[in-house]
Amino acid sequence: MTKVAFYTFGCRLNQAETAIMQQGFASQRYRVVDYRDKPDVVVVNTCTVTENGDADTRRLVNRLRRINPEVKIALVGCQAQVQKEQLLSLPNVHWVVGNARKMEIEHILSRENETPQLITPTIGRESFTIPFTGFDERHKRANLKIQDGCDFFCSFCEIPYARGRARSREFEDILKEARELSAAGHHELVLTGINIGTYGYKDVTLVDVISALEKLPDLWRIRISSIEPTTIAGEIVERMAQKSKLCRYLHIPLQSGSDAVLRAMNRNYTAAEFDEFIRTAARSVPEICLGTDVIVGFPGETEADFEETYRLLLDLPLAYFHVFSYSAREHARTARMPEREPIPREIISERSKRLRELSLRKRQVYYRKFLGKTERVLFEQQKDGSWNGLTDTYIRVKVASDADLSNRLLPVALEGIDGQAMLGRLAD
Ligand code: SF4
Repeated sequence: MTKVAFYTFGCRLNQAETAIMQQGFASQRYRVVDYRDKPDVVVVNTCTVTENGDADTRRLVNRLRRINPEVKIALVGCQAQVQKEQLLSLPNVHWVVGNARKMEIEHILSRENETPQLITPTIGRESFTIPFTGFDERHKRANLKIQDGCDFFCSFCEIPYARGRARSREFEDILKEARELSAAGHHELVLTGINIGTYGYKDVTLVDVISALEKLPDLWRIRISSIEPTTIAGEIVERMAQKSKLCRYLHIPLQSGSDAVLRAMNRNYTAAEFDEFIRTAARSVPEICLGTDVIVGFPGETEADFEETYRLLLDLPLAYFHVFSYSAREHARTARMPEREPIPREIISERSKRLRELSLRKRQVYYRKFLGKTERVLFEQQKDGSWNGLTDTYIRVKVASDADLSNRLLPVALEGIDGQAMLGRLAD
């Protein structure tokens, strides 16, 4: 029996795909083990969003070789798609498989081949199905992939090259997996993709997908993962206001609060439009958790551009933001913008630090709105004597209880704040 392990870098979509790939190995021939348990084969689902992601892959390859010098490594996914030959030359790497074929990884590995395999065909534009259900034994919430690829071509981003153009999963195939995941006890599903607001299969939209999922009896919560600002249908916010199964949560990447930088990034909205959308959402759904992403140090970002970003983030009713340092990508259009000056590292770190501190403060402000209120928490696990879980508004809540709360959705009175979490007690 071959011992196979999986390792995932990068985004939620990669996690969802690893869970699906893993199901293909549930056979007599393989035993799925931890990557530290001397596996014969390791499948690494790679990421190429930043330079760090690239270096992480190389470091992991070296680590896997130290664990088992004979290990055979399959590098699959985004970095595999765009850095083909470089990856195949790494020691112990026997397969480099791009995004178009990675779901067939079990078949690819089972073919006896002495020579290393490079399988990175061009990614098509057709809608798709997924052959397995991504059961995830380690988590209560499960990811449900509904879309892949992107047509937006933001100038800093390599994703349209690594993941291909936008395409949607067939509607019935989404429902089939959702039924199986919810029946298996995954009561919260997180809709994932690269640009999920552009979902469209025949005449089915993202709102239609949500409506169909809401009818599944074992599914209690539907959460939308990151969604682009210009793609959010008004009905989505209306649905959240009605306290449906759709979580009151939106993570909407801003990237910059300066119109000049947004234009250079090829983002198709202005800071004022983003501002307007966030304020409207907050008015319509008063307790909604609104989060965002910001890139610091985009080439040519002036002090004044950065201050505009800072001010916008300070003023808006956002609960948190993720701060990313700009990272040059070979295939992205910024690689061909020599007129925009790179920003020195020290300035990027200093600006990032200011934004991260602001984000921490904003989270506290957001949490304070919930003190004294009762919210329903979907409990996940017990840790250091407390049970913890999430509200639909993405607040991590800790509750001291001797009862088994695992996978239960219970009302909790929120009474305190403990760093990045809130403290509560089970309500009567
Ligand atoms: S919307 Fe922009 S940043 Fe997001 S995946 Fe598409 S090109 Fe990349």
